Amino acid sequence: MSLDLLYPRKCPFCARLLPEEEPGDICPACRRDLPWTRGGGKTKGSFFSLCVSPLTYAGKAREALLRFKFRGRRAYARCFGRLMADCVRENVPWELHTVSYVPLHWLRFRKRGYSQSRLLAEALAAQLGLPCVRLLRKRRHTRPLSGIRGEERRRAVVSGAFSLRRSAEEQIRNKCVLLVDDVVTTGATLGECSRLLLTAGADRVVCATLCKASNRK
Ligand SMILES: [Zn+2]
Repeated sequence: MSLDLLYPRKCPFCARLLPEEEPGDICPACRRDLPWTRGGGKTKGSFFSLCVSPLTYAGKAREALLRFKFRGRRAYARCFGRLMADCVRENVPWELHTVSYVPLHWLRFRKRGYSQSRLLAEALAAQLGLPCVRLLRKRRHTRPLSGIRGEERRRAVVSGAFSLRRSAEEQIRNKCVLLVDDVVTTGATLGECSRLLLTAGADRVVCATLCKASNRK
């Protein structure tokens, strides 16, 4: 018996059952109608060369990401990782060596039981055939940036909120690191994490997120 009969595959964005012959992880209607970014939805920021995101943080993409993040739908990571991998292959011109992610504070990790950015990073790394490593730690709890207006204030909130793990330097010296998070808005968090990776000797940091939010705040 095919595994699909035991565990029928569903599209993470609309929960429709996927036909067995459907090769991807999402249904044809969502492939057509999701809020795809153009050209990888490139975001520029401080300390990273580029951030790419396959989807806009809106509609079904936003709803699916919220279920993944807050409702325990960890299995979406595989599909999301594929979408991000396609986006990275198409839009990142540099050779990448290592994948890592923006960490959660341990209190939030304990509450949620998993780190959404780590699941995305692991799925993306598997797709790209790269190692996924822990490089950063979140030192203090920060208010969600979604409620904070203005790029400078957002940068101030995340300034000093992260630190490097002891093994980071030997893992990334002279390497190009792909740093993963779920959503990018102004790039304040990714910038702060990238700054640390560069101080640890990384050659370059490129970022990838599943969604790109509007930064008109
Ligand atoms: Zn669908």
